[in-house]
Amino acid sequence: MTRAYNFCAGPAILPESVLQQARDEMLDWRGTGMSVMEMSHRSDEFVEIAETAEQDFRELAGVPDDYAVLFMQGGASSQFATIPLNLLGDRSSADYVNTGIWSKKAIAEASRYANVNVVASSEGNGFTTIPDPSDWQCDPTAAYLHYTPNETIGGLEFDFVPDAGSVPLVADMSSTILSRPLDVSRFGVIYAGAQKNIGPSGLVVVVVRKDLLGHARKDIPTMMDYKVTADNGSMYNTPSTYSWYLAGLVFQWLKSQGGVESIGRINARKAEKLYGYIDQSAFYANPITPRFRSWMNVPFTLADEGLNRAFLDGAEQRQLLNLKGHRSVGGMRASIYNAMPEAGVDALIDYMTVFERERA
Ligand SMILES: *Cc1c(COP(=O)(O)O)cnc(C)c1O
Repeated sequence: MTRAYNFCAGPAILPESVLQQARDEMLDWRGTGMSVMEMSHRSDEFVEIAETAEQDFRELAGVPDDYAVLFMQGGASSQFATIPLNLLGDRSSADYVNTGIWSKKAIAEASRYANVNVVASSEGNGFTTIPDPSDWQCDPTAAYLHYTPNETIGGLEFDFVPDAGSVPLVADMSSTILSRPLDVSRFGVIYAGAQKNIGPSGLVVVVVRKDLLGHARKDIPTMMDYKVTADNGSMYNTPSTYSWYLAGLVFQWLKSQGGVESIGRINARKAEKLYGYIDQSAFYANPITPRFRSWMNVPFTLADEGLNRAFLDGAEQRQLLNLKGHRSVGGMRASIYNAMPEAGVDALIDYMTVFERERA
């Protein structure tokens, strides 16, 4: 068996030891004679798996007691509607920052339910920078302020948490959650699709400040109501049990790595190495303002676009997979989430060096 270095943006690489443990426990979870997939979600065994996962996540992310942690379904995209339906309350408008494709999707969906006020946008410069917060046109009466801390496709990442005053701050952290320490108390809602830093796709982890529960629109689908979800321990219906279990294994792995501070140092080093290499090369380029370059998703272009196919073919031969950039951006993209070992980044840089020497 060979394990490749998988640079996919999502579903993404998982820690090898997590997959091994899942394999070992596949047919018989700790002497129960059952796979986790076959267990009742109401069983003592599964409730323990679920509660441990939540506890470990709380510990890793530093979630205060006045926040609920929900394990919901439908991915991050379902939250684009779930958020306005839960948070608008008696207000009609919400503020959004537009920094890329995921921001735009969130804005488009919210516009079906709310008057969306785009307070700032970096679309004019191709989403290569974060608009200066002193220029944002925020509405102090908005129901909430939504932003995307890391734009997975563009590789653009905030290096600060916006100050929303008393307006609840809502963040789509799908591709940056648990990648470094975080002050949860600055946020009203944090949500993250699992398939980047947490586990299998379909699952979405939502962190909600408890005072924001219970203000949903009356006609909200029951399954989308944060309060119903919280009151039922994320088991109003059958949750995505196996994904929850796997997320729990990833949380345990992350704790064994020393938690988010330790992984944050490694992530910073991985990103610094790769951008450092790109910047010293005349052949590879990244267009993002250095301060706002993503630690998790590193897009880059080749000086000769005609060599893209050859670059990808050569990478595949070395088991460096899924480096093709998003169709809207072109070029290449290396996603280097928590589970990507530093050796994977080194292997990529080695290959880029050889390719440049031989083909540029
Ligand atoms: C991947 C991603 C999404 C979409 O996640 P789904 O689970 O496919 O809905 C949304 N926002 C960001 C920032 C992402 O990286």
